[in-house]
Amino acid sequence: MSKVEDFLTAQQEQEIVAAIKQAERETSGEIRIHLEKSTSMSAVDRAMEVFHFLEMDRTQLRNGVLIYVAVDDHKFAICGDEGIDKAVPADFWDCTRDAMQSQFRTGNFTQGLIDGVLRAGEKLQQYFPWQEGDQDELSNEISRG
Ligand code: CA
Ligand code: CA
Repeated sequence: MSKVEDFLTAQQEQEIVAAIKQAERETSGEIRIHLEKSTSMSAVDRAMEVFHFLEMDRTQLRNGVLIYVAVDDHKFAICGDEGIDKAVPADFWDCTRDAMQSQFRTGNFTQGLIDGVLRAGEKLQQYFPWQEGDQDELSNEISRG
């Protein structure tokens, strides 16, 4: 059985963190990833729980986004804060979800996360463009459950 530390190699993790940094160069939105082995909850409910646990609702524009994955369960969810929900259409995350799903399906876990991060960044950019003086409000490091 894999441990939560083993989901990614150090190299893969660096690539994903680099993708988060890249995405956040174009948007004020703050993207985080949380990985864990398994959850008994629905991915969406657990994502919301982790979102609050990580205090991701402390951004100025309330535009934090959590990509949550329960790796062994093969389930994931994308959870955005209320600033995003107020600004965007209901299907806003669909293309991000689809991009991740198609990579996950073919076993490309790292690429799925990278594509998800970059797609989320592109989407957020339309509503929350990067602005001068932007701060990195939430860590870009991957969090593990
Ligand atoms: Ca920022
Ligand atoms: Ca950040």
